[in-house]
Amino acid sequence: MLVVMQAHATEDQVRSVCRKIESLGYRAHSIPGAERTAIGITGNKGEVEPGTLEEMPGVQEVIRVTKPYKLVSRDLKEDDTIIRFAGTEATIGGPAVAVIAGPCAIESREQAFAVAERVQRAGAQFFRGGAYKPRTSPYSFQGLGEEGLRIMAEIREQFGLRIVTEAIDNESLELVNEYADVIQIGARNMQNFSLLKRAGRARKPVLIKRGMSATLEELLMAAEYVMSEGNYNVILCERGVRTFADHTRNTLDLSIIPAVQRLSHLPIVVDPSHGTGKRNKVTPLSRAAVAVGADGLIVEVHNDPDKALSDGMQSLYPDQFDELMAQIRQIAAVVGRTAANQGMQPAAITMPARARA
Ligand code: PEP
Ligand code: MN
Repeated sequence: MLVVMQAHATEDQVRSVCRKIESLGYRAHSIPGAERTAIGITGNKGEVEPGTLEEMPGVQEVIRVTKPYKLVSRDLKEDDTIIRFAGTEATIGGPAVAVIAGPCAIESREQAFAVAERVQRAGAQFFRGGAYKPRTSPYSFQGLGEEGLRIMAEIREQFGLRIVTEAIDNESLELVNEYADVIQIGARNMQNFSLLKRAGRARKPVLIKRGMSATLEELLMAAEYVMSEGNYNVILCERGVRTFADHTRNTLDLSIIPAVQRLSHLPIVVDPSHGTGKRNKVTPLSRAAVAVGADGLIVEVHNDPDKALSDGMQSLYPDQFDELMAQIRQIAAVVGRTAANQGMQPAAITMPARARA
């Protein structure tokens, strides 16, 4: 059930409706929009009796939501959600294409700083890096843990980049919530419902990666878990799904971008690194992602990919990242968006020959 307030409804009226909903034993989620505030009702097992709410001052209408997801839906909020980061111009979901770049894993202070310096200079606003790595093998590098988080906090200080990093369990989530600016929930955890609920109680925005076999509805329901706990700053991420194709690590499903944007107000970014698994496909798919309307990119970059402790094969060299940024600036302009310009603009803004892509 969804209560749509009148455009001129006062804050007091919104508060009274929320109180009424809570007094009936449900949870009220007041979501202000550009035109009006809507209040989502969750926690109801059956039908909520709309009568009493409809009569309250400031209420325009009470709508029954038939979709399984409610808070993520455009029915609740017509305009796009824009996630802002205090003290910076960086946004995710606004007209600017957000760029999150950095190594798969934080391996050392030197490595992380070398990459951060380059991605910042190229114009990224966010730095990614795993401190806790979900690895297929228990013998692979598992990440530096809290030490990795400390290094990223230093990177924020030094380069002004906002930090995006993964929490793999409840314990790491507490720490990631303390140090990072965005909590990443990985593909393997997209349906870890207790972790999603915890992320919903955290203070920081949450980036949810699509599970490798997740449908669009399952992805939206994962976001609904986080929002239903009161954290409305959620970013979705397409990172490829597993198919029979064996020319790439995963099949990057760019068609999910307009599909999500029809149904949900939440921003959606694309990860062409895990989405392809191959360095030579990252830039072409980044261009395509921006062209299709993605709200941002999350890209792996390494200063020495051949020696990377994880995902070296799909990590761009810093020079390639410069070129990627130059190209997506051009594509962004074509689709009526901007791509960050805060760093030093690389000199060459020419599209590469097809063979190189
Ligand atoms: C990552 O971002 O490094 C990662 C492990 O991603 P995913 O969860 O999409 O595999
Ligand atoms: Mn990786």
